[in-house]
Amino acid sequence: MPENSPESPTVPWTATVLTLFPEMFPGPLGASLPGKALESGLWALESVDIRDFASNKHRTVDDAPFGGGPGMVLRPDILASALDATATGGEDEALIYLTPRGAPLTQSRVRELSALRRLVLVCGRFEGVDERVIQARELEEISIGDYVLSGGEPAAVVLIDACVRLLPGVVGAPEGLVEESFETGLLEYPQYTRPNPWEGRDVPEVLTSGHHERVRTWRQEQSEQVTRGRRPDLWQRYRDRNKTDE
Ligand code: SAM
Repeated sequence: MPENSPESPTVPWTATVLTLFPEMFPGPLGASLPGKALESGLWALESVDIRDFASNKHRTVDDAPFGGGPGMVLRPDILASALDATATGGEDEALIYLTPRGAPLTQSRVRELSALRRLVLVCGRFEGVDERVIQARELEEISIGDYVLSGGEPAAVVLIDACVRLLPGVVGAPEGLVEESFETGLLEYPQYTRPNPWEGRDVPEVLTSGHHERVRTWRQEQSEQVTRGRRPDLWQRYRDRNKTDE
Protein backbone atom coordinates (compact mmCIF):
# COMPACT_ATOMS: atom_id res chain seq x y z
CA MET A 1 0.00 0.00 0.00
CA PRO A 2 1.52 3.41 -0.92
CA GLU A 3 2.36 5.22 2.29
CA ASN A 4 0.26 8.24 1.39
CA SER A 5 -2.87 6.30 0.48
CA PRO A 6 -6.10 7.35 2.19
CA GLU A 7 -5.66 4.33 4.52
CA SER A 8 -2.38 5.80 5.76
CA PRO A 9 -2.63 9.59 5.54
CA THR A 10 -0.21 10.25 8.39
CA VAL A 11 3.10 10.14 6.52
CA PRO A 12 3.70 13.68 5.32
CA TRP A 13 5.74 14.87 2.35
CA THR A 14 9.36 14.36 3.40
CA ALA A 15 12.68 15.94 2.42
CA THR A 16 15.76 13.91 3.29
CA VAL A 17 18.96 15.91 2.93
CA LEU A 18 22.34 14.20 2.54
CA THR A 19 24.94 16.70 3.69
CA LEU A 20 28.30 17.16 5.38
CA PHE A 21 26.72 19.93 7.46
CA PRO A 22 23.53 18.54 9.05
CA GLU A 23 23.61 21.42 11.53
CA MET A 24 22.59 23.73 8.64
CA PHE A 25 19.06 22.22 8.82
CA PRO A 26 16.32 23.20 9.34
CA GLY A 27 17.95 26.66 9.20
CA PRO A 28 15.55 29.07 7.46
CA LEU A 29 13.13 26.17 6.93
CA GLY A 30 12.47 26.21 10.68
CA ALA A 31 11.00 29.74 10.56
CA SER A 32 7.89 31.43 9.19
CA LEU A 33 5.61 29.47 6.84
CA PRO A 34 7.72 26.32 6.31
CA GLY A 35 8.68 26.31 10.00
CA LYS A 36 5.07 26.43 11.18
CA ALA A 37 4.11 23.73 8.68
CA LEU A 38 7.04 21.58 9.85
CA GLU A 39 5.97 21.98 13.46
CA SER A 40 2.40 21.04 12.69
CA GLY A 41 3.47 17.92 10.79
CA LEU A 42 2.43 19.02 7.28
CA TRP A 43 5.87 17.95 6.08
CA ALA A 44 8.94 16.28 7.56
CA LEU A 45 12.67 16.95 7.31
CA GLU A 46 15.53 14.51 7.87
CA SER A 47 19.19 15.39 7.59
CA VAL A 48 21.71 12.62 7.08
CA ASP A 49 25.41 13.17 7.74
CA ILE A 50 27.33 11.77 4.75
CA ARG A 51 30.37 11.45 7.04
CA ASP A 52 28.57 8.73 9.01
CA PHE A 53 29.14 6.50 5.97
CA ALA A 54 32.90 7.03 5.80
CA SER A 55 34.88 3.86 6.33
CA ASN A 56 38.15 5.03 7.89
CA LYS A 57 38.80 6.35 11.36
CA HIS A 58 39.39 9.89 10.06
CA ARG A 59 35.89 9.82 8.51
CA THR A 60 37.32 10.95 5.16
CA VAL A 61 34.69 11.53 2.47
CA ASP A 62 36.69 13.15 -0.34
CA ASP A 63 39.77 12.56 -2.46
CA ALA A 64 41.84 14.35 -5.11
CA PRO A 65 40.43 14.49 -8.67
CA PHE A 66 41.85 12.06 -11.20
CA GLY A 67 43.61 14.03 -13.94
CA GLY A 68 44.74 16.67 -11.48
CA GLY A 69 43.34 20.11 -10.81
CA PRO A 70 42.31 22.06 -7.74
CA GLY A 71 40.07 20.93 -4.90
CA MET A 72 38.66 17.61 -3.81
CA VAL A 73 35.81 15.39 -4.99
CA LEU A 74 33.21 13.53 -2.89
CA ARG A 75 33.90 9.80 -3.17
CA PRO A 76 31.29 7.70 -4.99
CA ASP A 77 31.43 4.71 -2.61
CA ILE A 78 30.65 6.81 0.46
CA LEU A 79 27.88 8.78 -1.18
CA ALA A 80 26.38 5.58 -2.61
CA SER A 81 26.33 4.01 0.88
CA ALA A 82 24.53 7.08 2.22
CA LEU A 83 22.01 6.96 -0.66
CA ASP A 84 21.44 3.22 -0.37
CA ALA A 85 20.75 3.50 3.33
CA THR A 86 18.31 6.37 2.76
CA ALA A 87 16.42 5.94 -0.51
CA THR A 88 13.51 3.50 -0.67
CA GLY A 89 13.50 3.17 -4.46
CA GLY A 90 9.77 3.94 -4.53
CA GLU A 91 8.15 5.63 -7.53
CA ASP A 92 6.94 8.43 -5.31
CA GLU A 93 10.51 9.42 -4.44
CA ALA A 94 13.00 11.62 -6.37
CA LEU A 95 16.76 11.37 -5.94
CA ILE A 96 18.29 14.75 -6.65
CA TYR A 97 21.83 16.09 -6.80
CA LEU A 98 21.97 19.87 -6.51
CA THR A 99 24.60 21.16 -8.91
CA PRO A 100 25.24 24.19 -11.13
CA ARG A 101 25.49 21.69 -14.01
CA GLY A 102 21.87 20.59 -13.50
CA ALA A 103 18.65 21.53 -15.26
CA PRO A 104 17.47 24.95 -14.05
CA LEU A 105 14.77 24.58 -11.40
CA THR A 106 11.36 25.72 -12.63
CA GLN A 107 8.00 26.24 -10.98
CA SER A 108 6.53 23.37 -12.99
CA ARG A 109 9.22 20.95 -11.74
CA VAL A 110 8.65 22.28 -8.20
CA ARG A 111 4.95 21.49 -8.58
CA GLU A 112 5.73 17.94 -9.72
CA LEU A 113 8.21 17.39 -6.87
CA SER A 114 5.72 18.67 -4.30
CA ALA A 115 3.25 16.04 -5.56
CA LEU A 116 5.66 13.19 -4.77
CA ARG A 117 5.99 11.74 -1.30
CA ARG A 118 9.69 12.10 -0.68
CA LEU A 119 12.77 13.90 -2.00
CA VAL A 120 16.30 12.73 -1.25
CA LEU A 121 18.60 15.68 -1.85
CA VAL A 122 22.37 15.33 -2.19
CA CYS A 123 24.30 18.46 -1.24
CA GLY A 124 27.73 18.59 -2.84
CA ARG A 125 30.79 20.32 -1.41
CA PHE A 126 34.35 20.85 -2.68
CA GLU A 127 34.51 20.46 -6.49
CA GLY A 128 31.39 18.28 -6.48
CA VAL A 129 30.72 14.54 -6.52
CA ASP A 130 32.22 11.68 -8.56
CA GLU A 131 30.30 11.39 -11.85
CA ARG A 132 29.86 7.63 -11.49
CA VAL A 133 27.56 7.85 -8.47
CA ILE A 134 25.32 10.31 -10.35
CA GLN A 135 24.98 7.75 -13.14
CA ALA A 136 24.83 4.61 -10.99
CA ARG A 137 22.05 5.94 -8.74
CA GLU A 138 20.37 7.86 -11.57
CA LEU A 139 20.40 11.16 -9.71
CA GLU A 140 18.39 13.99 -11.24
CA GLU A 141 20.69 17.02 -11.48
CA ILE A 142 19.07 20.33 -10.60
CA SER A 143 20.56 23.83 -10.50
CA ILE A 144 19.01 26.78 -8.70
CA GLY A 145 20.70 29.31 -10.99
CA ASP A 146 23.71 30.27 -13.04
CA TYR A 147 26.09 31.02 -10.18
CA VAL A 148 28.26 28.87 -7.92
CA LEU A 149 27.49 28.34 -4.22
CA SER A 150 30.02 26.92 -1.79
CA GLY A 151 27.76 23.95 -1.13
CA GLY A 152 24.43 22.39 -2.06
CA GLU A 153 22.75 23.16 1.29
CA PRO A 154 21.39 26.63 0.39
CA ALA A 155 20.16 25.15 -2.90
CA ALA A 156 18.37 22.36 -0.99
CA VAL A 157 16.75 24.98 1.24
CA VAL A 158 15.51 26.87 -1.84
CA LEU A 159 14.09 23.76 -3.47
CA ILE A 160 12.42 22.50 -0.28
CA ASP A 161 10.92 25.92 0.50
CA ALA A 162 9.46 26.18 -3.01
CA CYS A 163 7.87 22.69 -2.68
CA VAL A 164 6.59 23.09 0.88
CA ARG A 165 4.51 26.19 0.13
CA LEU A 166 2.57 24.15 -2.45
CA LEU A 167 1.68 21.36 -0.01
CA PRO A 168 -1.99 21.22 1.01
CA GLY A 169 -2.70 23.27 4.11
CA VAL A 170 0.59 25.20 4.16
CA VAL A 171 -0.53 28.46 2.55
CA GLY A 172 -3.62 30.02 4.15
CA ALA A 173 -5.20 31.25 0.90
CA PRO A 174 -4.18 28.70 -1.75
CA GLU A 175 -6.09 30.51 -4.51
CA GLY A 176 -3.32 33.16 -4.30
CA LEU A 177 -0.78 30.57 -5.48
CA VAL A 178 -2.44 30.34 -8.89
CA GLU A 179 -1.74 33.99 -9.74
CA GLU A 180 1.89 34.02 -8.70
CA SER A 181 4.88 34.56 -10.97
CA PHE A 182 5.52 31.60 -13.31
CA GLU A 183 2.25 29.81 -12.50
CA THR A 184 0.48 31.42 -15.45
CA GLY A 185 3.66 31.55 -17.54
CA LEU A 186 3.96 35.27 -16.75
CA LEU A 187 5.62 37.31 -14.00
CA GLU A 188 3.25 38.77 -11.45
CA TYR A 189 1.68 42.24 -11.72
CA PRO A 190 2.87 44.93 -9.25
CA GLN A 191 1.37 44.89 -5.75
CA TYR A 192 0.36 47.88 -3.58
CA THR A 193 -0.95 48.43 -0.04
CA ARG A 194 -1.51 51.30 2.42
CA PRO A 195 -0.60 54.10 2.89
CA ASN A 196 -1.87 55.82 -0.19
CA PRO A 197 -0.31 58.14 -1.24
CA TRP A 198 3.20 57.38 0.02
CA GLU A 199 6.09 59.86 -0.49
CA GLY A 200 3.94 61.56 -3.10
CA ARG A 201 3.41 58.33 -5.07
CA ASP A 202 -0.18 57.23 -5.73
CA VAL A 203 -1.52 53.71 -6.00
CA PRO A 204 -2.91 53.20 -9.56
CA GLU A 205 -6.48 54.50 -9.56
CA VAL A 206 -7.94 51.31 -11.00
CA LEU A 207 -6.93 49.34 -7.86
CA THR A 208 -9.03 51.58 -5.62
CA SER A 209 -11.99 51.68 -8.06
CA GLY A 210 -13.69 48.58 -6.63
CA HIS A 211 -14.30 47.48 -10.25
CA HIS A 212 -13.20 43.83 -10.29
CA GLU A 213 -13.20 43.34 -14.05
CA ARG A 214 -11.08 46.46 -14.64
CA VAL A 215 -8.66 45.33 -11.92
CA ARG A 216 -8.38 41.89 -13.55
CA THR A 217 -7.69 43.40 -17.00
CA TRP A 218 -5.14 45.88 -15.60
CA ARG A 219 -3.28 43.12 -13.76
CA GLN A 220 -3.18 40.91 -16.85
CA GLU A 221 -1.82 43.81 -18.95
CA GLN A 222 0.79 44.62 -16.29
CA SER A 223 1.88 40.97 -16.09
CA GLU A 224 2.31 40.86 -19.86
CA GLN A 225 4.20 44.17 -19.96
CA VAL A 226 6.57 43.22 -17.13
CA THR A 227 7.26 39.78 -18.61
CA ARG A 228 7.84 41.20 -22.11
CA GLY A 229 10.30 43.79 -20.75
CA ARG A 230 12.17 41.72 -18.17
CA ARG A 231 12.03 38.15 -19.43
CA PRO A 232 11.80 37.92 -23.23
CA ASP A 233 12.44 34.14 -22.92
CA LEU A 234 9.32 33.64 -20.75
CA TRP A 235 7.30 35.99 -22.94
CA GLN A 236 8.17 34.03 -26.08
CA ARG A 237 7.22 30.75 -24.40
CA TYR A 238 3.92 32.25 -23.17
CA ARG A 239 3.11 33.54 -26.67
CA ASP A 240 3.97 30.20 -28.27
CA ARG A 241 1.86 28.30 -25.76
CA ASN A 242 -1.15 30.56 -26.26
CA LYS A 243 -0.79 30.29 -30.03
CA THR A 244 -1.00 26.46 -29.80
CA ASP A 245 -3.95 26.73 -27.41
CA GLU A 246 -5.87 28.92 -29.90
N1 SAM B 1 33.04 22.60 -9.35
C1 SAM B 1 31.63 22.75 -9.45
C2 SAM B 1 31.27 23.35 -10.80
O1 SAM B 1 32.05 24.16 -11.32
O2 SAM B 1 30.17 23.04 -11.32
C3 SAM B 1 31.08 23.64 -8.34
C4 SAM B 1 31.14 23.00 -7.01
S1 SAM B 1 30.42 24.00 -5.76
C5 SAM B 1 31.80 24.87 -5.14
C6 SAM B 1 30.07 22.86 -4.46
C7 SAM B 1 28.65 22.33 -4.43
O3 SAM B 1 27.75 23.39 -4.28
C8 SAM B 1 28.20 21.58 -5.66
O4 SAM B 1 28.62 20.24 -5.66
C9 SAM B 1 26.69 21.70 -5.56
O5 SAM B 1 26.15 20.69 -4.72
C10 SAM B 1 26.50 23.05 -4.88
N2 SAM B 1 26.10 24.13 -5.79
C11 SAM B 1 26.86 25.18 -6.16
N3 SAM B 1 26.20 26.00 -6.98
C12 SAM B 1 24.97 25.47 -7.16
C13 SAM B 1 23.82 25.86 -7.93
N4 SAM B 1 23.82 26.95 -8.68
N5 SAM B 1 22.73 25.08 -7.86
C14 SAM B 1 22.71 23.97 -7.12
N6 SAM B 1 23.78 23.54 -6.37
C15 SAM B 1 24.89 24.28 -6.38
